[in-house]
Amino acid sequence: MKYDEDKVDEFTLALLYLVSHGREESLGARAWKGFDWDTLNRLHDKGLISNPVGKAKSIGMTEEGFLKSQSLFEKHFMKKAETLAFPDFTVAAKQRWQQIPEKTRKDILDNIWCPHCGTGGSMQLKKGVIEDRCLILRGTCKKCGKDVARLIESE
Ligand SMILES: [Zn+2]
Repeated sequence: MKYDEDKVDEFTLALLYLVSHGREESLGARAWKGFDWDTLNRLHDKGLISNPVGKAKSIGMTEEGFLKSQSLFEKHFMKKAETLAFPDFTVAAKQRWQQIPEKTRKDILDNIWCPHCGTGGSMQLKKGVIEDRCLILRGTCKKCGKDVARLIESE
């Protein structure tokens, strides 16, 4: 059987998120290893999981492996309504946000500064409030998943 191994690797890694446990911040996690053996070996070769050979029923996920697994799971398996859920905005914040042209809104969300990554990136919008006449957008960095915020001053 010929198939796209990279694609299988990607989906398997994404599914590992669902069976991951023992997550320790920056130290990865563990995951049950009931997946295709060859795939697990390839993921090991890619440095995403520990060597799957052994009696333990679970494998270790490296930090990189865990984070990748989490974002792939969100990408492939989260329902659209949840990933793009209309964020939790106050009425005033929603009005202000909707006054901004769509293209500009997209630009704003794609150009946030993430202090955790130390680079610019995109924000997954979660909340919007008005404070001191400024629109404050809160969400998470699409790269690292940590909290980021963006303030838009009143014109
Ligand atoms: Zn980040």
